[in-house]
Amino acid sequence: MGHVASAHPHQSQIIGFLLFFFFSFGLKAQPFDPFSAGNTTPTYAQIVGFYDKLHQQYPTITRWETLGPSDAGFPLRVFLIVPPLQEPLGKELSNLSPIRVLINNGIHPGEPEGINASMRLAQNVLTGRLKWKNGERFSLAIVPVYNIGGSLNRSAHSRANQNGPAEYGFRGNSKNLDLNRDFIKQDSREAQSLTRFIAYFKPQLFFDTHTSNGADYPATLTYIETQWNKMNSQRGTWMHESLTPAILRKIPSKYGTVPYVNTLQETPDSGITCFVEGPRFATGFTSVLDIPGYTIETHMLKPFEDRVNATYAFLEAGIQALLDQRDSIPSPHQLRPKQHFLFNWTVDYRKKEELKFTGYEAEMIPSELSGAPRLRYNRSKTWTQKISNYAYAHATDSDLVPSGFVIPVAWNEVLERIVPLAQALDSSSVKWIQKDTVMLGKMARIVDFQTGKSPYEGHYLHSKISVQWNIQTQSVRAGDCFIKCTASTARLLMETLHPRANDSYFAWGFFDPILQQKEYFSDYVFEDLAVAWLKEHPSLKSEFEAEKLKHPEWVKDGSGALWWVYSHSSYYEKTHKLYPVLFVD
Ligand SMILES: [Zn+2]
Repeated sequence: MGHVASAHPHQSQIIGFLLFFFFSFGLKAQPFDPFSAGNTTPTYAQIVGFYDKLHQQYPTITRWETLGPSDAGFPLRVFLIVPPLQEPLGKELSNLSPIRVLINNGIHPGEPEGINASMRLAQNVLTGRLKWKNGERFSLAIVPVYNIGGSLNRSAHSRANQNGPAEYGFRGNSKNLDLNRDFIKQDSREAQSLTRFIAYFKPQLFFDTHTSNGADYPATLTYIETQWNKMNSQRGTWMHESLTPAILRKIPSKYGTVPYVNTLQETPDSGITCFVEGPRFATGFTSVLDIPGYTIETHMLKPFEDRVNATYAFLEAGIQALLDQRDSIPSPHQLRPKQHFLFNWTVDYRKKEELKFTGYEAEMIPSELSGAPRLRYNRSKTWTQKISNYAYAHATDSDLVPSGFVIPVAWNEVLERIVPLAQALDSSSVKWIQKDTVMLGKMARIVDFQTGKSPYEGHYLHSKISVQWNIQTQSVRAGDCFIKCTASTARLLMETLHPRANDSYFAWGFFDPILQQKEYFSDYVFEDLAVAWLKEHPSLKSEFEAEKLKHPEWVKDGSGALWWVYSHSSYYEKTHKLYPVLFVD
């Protein structure tokens, strides 16, 4: 896609080369037939070969576009089935196609049901075997395989708990990143390419296809409905009360469809909880943009063919349910400046529903390996009962939305991530400051936080962040970036730029340099300066005397007293722990 691919000067050249390389590679691949695949999922070359051919057969109603680069070196591509005679993919797509759906596959290429199911879906739609009702002016976008590097890294063993297919890709991408944690921090080129496409394509329905982990039970099909109460109230409520029930009614009962079995304790009889996906996850990101999203998770121990069929059934039912309700989809984005934004959602254990569930009996038997007791599900004994389903989440933090944010030009890694997204959501939201000026707003000083002890997805993630706000006039310089909070951008900006948000750029460590003090003092030098400073500042001196009474230990070790005066004087650097993003009033 031109507007993304032209971001780097030599990128189109590189992609041209890669496409050429790939083309010759693709010719060697055996054609893949998704209808007779049985226990196999296609290789990357077969996937591209399949969509190449489909595009050649149906050139006027399909597009086979490049969204941008991936870490694997190959371009990230999307296959679109669009109304005929459409202009090149651009802004006008949303006008010509008022209904838009995006399916993302192979984010975890070891869980490839959606790769096979989407191929069948595309072929069935194009051959006319599947005809949508109310399907006029509708665009279907399919990312055939998102994690290309993982797809190339095939084996038969990396999913030890899974029953087929015979060979499949690996969870990590070419940089060993889990792409389903990368939608905000965007360390992968895949995430940069896809998030910008989502922000500008603005689908009304999004699917991310997976395979389950965890307990054994008879159901083949499970799903995660995105945290609908995180979205704006009308759209979220419509999704939960109208769209989801309509989808479930359309899915054949043989799949035993239930919400994702995220067990409270080891086995499902203990109850299940909803999965609260923060914005780092695919459907967590789309819900920030008020896009209804479903994570489809088929059961890992069912035969692969059944899992592909179940995934297909959910996709078909979901799209048809959306088309049936196309005239009653509430508009997205109602959050505006001065309104309260709710964030840092977690499971609400005060509220539960009952769910009729069929499980396998769990037994503890002696392990053949160690002799210790081990869990076994007895598939010849099933039970059906009502279990607790903690299906609700609640926000643990909130704050007022400012009119916008100023990000100083120095923070290029943050700007590179957020500016293209804000522009894709609302092209008028980004303005570069033209000349030095001052602006009124509030700024945060980081007071406290905790940091994970081991690396998590390439970062040492911060949590439990507390800050102190200061309202001030702040100098902003030519070249700094102002991003306006509009109905389209406010949610995403709050999730990423509010320093207390769990997936903010501060939490991911992009602002870590502010946490380190750059200058210090020698005790023997500062002893005299401190005395002189307090003499010149009598009110600070009385504060100091009061503080001293609370610290009898300062008589034995004076470093605490020195630090107190230093940190309350002009000698202390003002930028230490000062979060540099201005919340504009
Ligand atoms: Zn997965």
